Amino acid sequence: MNLSRRSLLSLGAAGVASSAIPFSFAGQNGKWKGKRPKNIIFMVADGMSHQTVAICDEYQKLALGKPSSYWAALMDRPDVYTGLQETRSLSSVVTDSAAAASTWGSGRRIWNGMINMYPDKTSLRTLTNLMIEAGVKVGLVTTTTMTHATPSGFAINIIDRDLEALIAEQHLTSGVSVLMGGGDKFFSATKRKDKKDVYGEFEKKGFKVVKDRDSVLNLKADKILGIFADSHIPYSIDRDNDPELLRTVPTLAEMAHTAIENLKGASKGFLLQIEGGKVDHAGHANDTAAQVHDQMAFEDAVKVAIEFAERDGNTLVIVTADHATGGPSLNGAGNEYMDSTKGLVSVAKHTASYQPIFDMIGKTASGSAVQGAVEAKLGIQLKAKEASIVSDAINGKSLFADLELQGGKLSAFALVLQNYTKVGWTSLNHTSEHVLVSAFGPGSEQVRGLTRNVEFFDMMLAAKGLKWSNPTMSFEDAAKSIEKLRASIDPEWLAFYSSVDDECLHQ
Ligand SMILES: [Zn+2]
Repeated sequence: MNLSRRSLLSLGAAGVASSAIPFSFAGQNGKWKGKRPKNIIFMVADGMSHQTVAICDEYQKLALGKPSSYWAALMDRPDVYTGLQETRSLSSVVTDSAAAASTWGSGRRIWNGMINMYPDKTSLRTLTNLMIEAGVKVGLVTTTTMTHATPSGFAINIIDRDLEALIAEQHLTSGVSVLMGGGDKFFSATKRKDKKDVYGEFEKKGFKVVKDRDSVLNLKADKILGIFADSHIPYSIDRDNDPELLRTVPTLAEMAHTAIENLKGASKGFLLQIEGGKVDHAGHANDTAAQVHDQMAFEDAVKVAIEFAERDGNTLVIVTADHATGGPSLNGAGNEYMDSTKGLVSVAKHTASYQPIFDMIGKTASGSAVQGAVEAKLGIQLKAKEASIVSDAINGKSLFADLELQGGKLSAFALVLQNYTKVGWTSLNHTSEHVLVSAFGPGSEQVRGLTRNVEFFDMMLAAKGLKWSNPTMSFEDAAKSIEKLRASIDPEWLAFYSSVDDECLHQ
């Protein structure tokens, strides 16, 4: 199901782009009503749908005894504005994360899979570049690889989001002061195919490089590169059930806190993007418990940002998603739908994401192996027929093999678990829905109603008194150029620098 983007962008890459746009100061004419914030914190729950927020809220009330989720409480406040964001890209009504974040990063719709570039290799000036020119410090914090699509969308120009080894190198000159996330394999000389010591290059540029939780908790440094996993940071549900991961890997809230503490003294203010990237990965896997836990971890980070903004009084916090993923829904089930509530509460018994469960089941799955792993990790006693639906799918004989969007083992597993959780999913892919956006602080009233994703670039620049217009490109022109681009790529070069990322299924 990831073939659509993969085959599109196996067009490959044309190398790291040099900017085709002449640099000049962005100008002090961005329109803004009222007080301008000094700082901007832009928070992204990647792949979060409305149902993610609603399920997370009800889960915390019913299973954890809390009064509500943090975001639900936030939306209830009179000083917080909430609206919707439209999410399409240049190539489709359904965006990928690269195009979505590039839309915020350039103010223009971008072809899925590309980052702040058009298919004719025109490179657009980025939000980060413009902010840094105006003296604003920039930070990027994520639970994906540091070089993944969403953080890159604020700061990077590249033809293919999969070129993460090259994105790591671009950050040597991106001007971003605080970088925290996963992706050791793109920085380490022993893991990179070209054996470049990218960590060493960052240290030469004055970055403090940290790789474990203890080092980041009370860190004070002007420039930080924090990398806490080989690839993406583990799912929160797996971290919470593994004492070693709890000890060594910081939470998104902890990374956010350290980032804010080290950026807050900047004389011209700061721009900080904080991404809960695993919400999207759980959506691609149709994994309800993993998504709930990572959404809660994201909202813990939102709390850190809002509490800073409350103390500071000079910070605009925008909380949103780039698109929704998987289309989760808690369905009505049973008499008077009473089984729906029980189903959601039962998710509290789940102690692992799908990955450790599939690892336990093994490649040549038997029904009893499926039953054993599901009982051990989810506390569910699957019936033999349910287990065989899953084992057949793992063995390439899914009942749903002919269904384009439900044909794989993850869909089969999620469909079976729906008997228990009552949570269903529409696909393993992104969806087109308008996503929630809430904002707090100076200028927050602008997110009322429907905001187009392209409008956040102008909004964030205007907050700092800046304005910039990147060139536009029509769908028709981009579609013509993409064919030429495909033909111009050296496939060996592409394969050398590209990452293969099963965890987020390339989206
Ligand atoms: Zn995705």
